[in-house]
Amino acid sequence: MTIASNSRESVPGGTHPSLGRSGRVRRVALGASPRTAPVNLLGLSRDTLETFFAELGERPYRARQVLKWIHDRGVTEFAAMTDLSRELRDRLSREACILAPEVCGEQSSSDGTRKWALRLDAGNVIETVFIPEKSRGTLCVSTQAGCALDCTFCATARQGFNRNLSTAEIVGQLWLAGRALETAPPGTPGVTNVVLMGMGEPLLNFNNVVDALRIMMDDFAYGLGKRKVTLSTSGVVPAMDRLRETLDVSLAVSLHAAADALRDRLVPLNRKYPLAELMGACRRFLQDKHRKHTITFEYVMLKDVNDSVSNARALAKLLADIPAKVNLIPFNPFEGAGFERSGPDAIDRFARVLQERRITTITRRPRGQDIDAACGQLAGAVDDRSRRPEHFARLEASFQQRAGG
Ligand code: SAH
Repeated sequence: MTIASNSRESVPGGTHPSLGRSGRVRRVALGASPRTAPVNLLGLSRDTLETFFAELGERPYRARQVLKWIHDRGVTEFAAMTDLSRELRDRLSREACILAPEVCGEQSSSDGTRKWALRLDAGNVIETVFIPEKSRGTLCVSTQAGCALDCTFCATARQGFNRNLSTAEIVGQLWLAGRALETAPPGTPGVTNVVLMGMGEPLLNFNNVVDALRIMMDDFAYGLGKRKVTLSTSGVVPAMDRLRETLDVSLAVSLHAAADALRDRLVPLNRKYPLAELMGACRRFLQDKHRKHTITFEYVMLKDVNDSVSNARALAKLLADIPAKVNLIPFNPFEGAGFERSGPDAIDRFARVLQERRITTITRRPRGQDIDAACGQLAGAVDDRSRRPEHFARLEASFQQRAGG
């Protein structure tokens, strides 16, 4: 990716409350020429940062220094980057910025789950969820404003689709969570795992997602290992192959049905990439020896739709020759969904069928339901093809405005 294209996409119109009072980067006009607009360094991976510094006549190690300042230490003022020369700091203050999306709302669940609403621009608010457990903290990150895939049981789909998130907007969610968790009560874990399971289909925003993952996995930034970063897809087959050739991360596939007729209905993308093709892509993904040896298959449990014993047998058969782990997700309801959650007995029965066939099966405990932060409940507010200003107003009202935010 060239720096010019990155700078164009990465300078959103909003401001960030933690930026200093100099106001320099705040005055950037949207639509300014890419040559003169400050480059948002938050969205640059190490390679791109090295190119950026080379163009300034600086040595490549500047990229590592600056990655550490931005992502590890959370610094947004170039003046504070004391291991850079004064001249370079001044130059960066003029030509670059460090700009995360603006936090416009925050909610905490009784179970400790936290959800942040992030304003990307005038028309788009997305959501990010932090799920703390005893020994780990998982951040559920969004990759698109809305989603184009239209899965029938997912709240995000109802919002329609507006646009891809920039690399800075994707990695910015992790950056912001880090800042927010600095003041969390003692004993709260930090972010140890990232799942791309928020709003959007990550593989339909391929380049920005891959760059964001590179930053998340860079030892000078967040240093997350390949087992700690999971990309979830509905099954964009060609992009799964491209991912395999590009980056080593953990993969989750949202399956939800083991027969084409049913999956066509639940995940319309199946009409384009039916199960035989999807499973082929999964097998290819697992071919490389050095890779993680399993794929996680997500399966939402919908009462009387996909939760029978024969559905379970069909799933076991489909996965018989693939190293697989199954994650059963009890359906999380939302207004007007038209589906119900399977009962606990049906879920147990389904899990047993898989376990008897030696398929590791875990039932995901819904987290953050009281703040609509559970799987499939993320909606945000997206300036979408079906336009829903009334939803936007409701969302704004439901979030407690941060003081001065
Ligand atoms: N588009 C990607 C990333 C989203 S991940 C994908 O489909 O994998 C979000 C996960 O939650 C997916 O497995 C999705 O199918 C599931 N999900 C969506 N709506 C849900 C709901 N209402 N209840 C439970 N899980 C849901």
